[in-house]
Amino acid sequence: MTTHNDDLKALIRTIADYPKPGIMFHDITTLVRDAYGFTQTIRRMADLTAHTKPTVIAGIEARGFVFGAALAQHLGLGFVLVRKKDKLPGKTIGINYALEYGSDRIEIHADAFAADARVLLVDDLIATGGTAAAATSLIRSTGATVAHAVFVIDLPQVGGAMKLRALNVEPLSLLTYDGH
Ligand code: AMP
Repeated sequence: MTTHNDDLKALIRTIADYPKPGIMFHDITTLVRDAYGFTQTIRRMADLTAHTKPTVIAGIEARGFVFGAALAQHLGLGFVLVRKKDKLPGKTIGINYALEYGSDRIEIHADAFAADARVLLVDDLIATGGTAAAATSLIRSTGATVAHAVFVIDLPQVGGAMKLRALNVEPLSLLTYDGH
């Protein structure tokens, strides 16, 4: 769904070979430092996800916090932080997931979600989908429902959106980029 968002795409800076050779890094800092860009991104994320009727927003550390918290505020909803390991002070539950090289872990507070919560998951970008899939499994383990996830950017050729669909999560995104 790229059609109407070329103005936002123009505000995203793509940096070649970061953090390692061969990666095209899509840098959203130039989007959110722009008042028009940030405001429009949140409004359009809200429009794109209106049909999902979430009761709470969950954002993935760290760039998912920027968009997720702003979207929650825009919608008048609460916001839950999905954090990297050992950052949360209370009783946590977590999940390990594989990266291209090695593994990582995300955690939430064990009491973060009501059992009847309908969660909209938010991150800046979906590539392999490993992070969003892990977050989905973790949140679902509390009994909460995750049926939709929204991203500023999808890299469809990397396959993350397909991975989410296989988990019965509908991936929504404002922009797509070719390549990895
Ligand atoms: P993945 O788990 O492969 O879907 O990776 C998603 C996470 O990695 C997101 O939180 C992104 O912020 C980050 N990421 C992966 N690939 C890129 C890229 N090409 N440009 C910017 N961020 C990326």
